[in-house]
Amino acid sequence: MSLPEEIWTVQSYIELFSHGCPNHLRPTMCPHCQTEVMLHKHGSFERTVYTLLEAFIISIFRFKCIKCGRSTSLLPNFVMEHHQVAWDVKEEVIRQQLSGVALAKIAEDLVTSAGRFSEKTLWRWSKAIRDELRDSSSEQWRVILEKLPHVEIPVGPSKPVQEWSWLFRAWEQVRSMIPGYLNIGLLTWLYQIKHSRAVALG
Ligand SMILES: [Zn+2]
Repeated sequence: MSLPEEIWTVQSYIELFSHGCPNHLRPTMCPHCQTEVMLHKHGSFERTVYTLLEAFIISIFRFKCIKCGRSTSLLPNFVMEHHQVAWDVKEEVIRQQLSGVALAKIAEDLVTSAGRFSEKTLWRWSKAIRDELRDSSSEQWRVILEKLPHVEIPVGPSKPVQEWSWLFRAWEQVRSMIPGYLNIGLLTWLYQIKHSRAVALG
């Protein structure tokens, strides 16, 4: 399951979880049996996360439900489930693509903390993210409109092909209004909107 409501950068996550999972962030609902119960601490494991500039080893905390006995992990939202590459890397790829840089060129030039990625990998990320947007676009604009009732949104015949450019622009406005969001990327936020309901990892 993802961390509820709050969005962390890798650094703020490491700081906050340096002495284990803080009590106020312990899951209070089991994603397997949906029972509303404080889950028991059940150890942790380490995982490497690659951001643009730095690789981090972070602890992922596990919890166990006393009702059904199944366990779950609390996943920070700067990285997607089962992925090691943080959203900021993927966001950089999308931004460069939007500004007209070819994927082959990005693959050649973009050096991340995990090194370079092949054009094929970048293409796979880009496609997955675009597909995701297509599926949940209206939901994302609804949330943006809640925050920014006067924002100009792409509708009808004037809806641009590059909806992403609009989203990036709207996001700049949204995050300037929310304390602590200045370092949060668009993709982290979109993913959080989509997955704010608990996801069971088993
Ligand atoms: Zn349970």
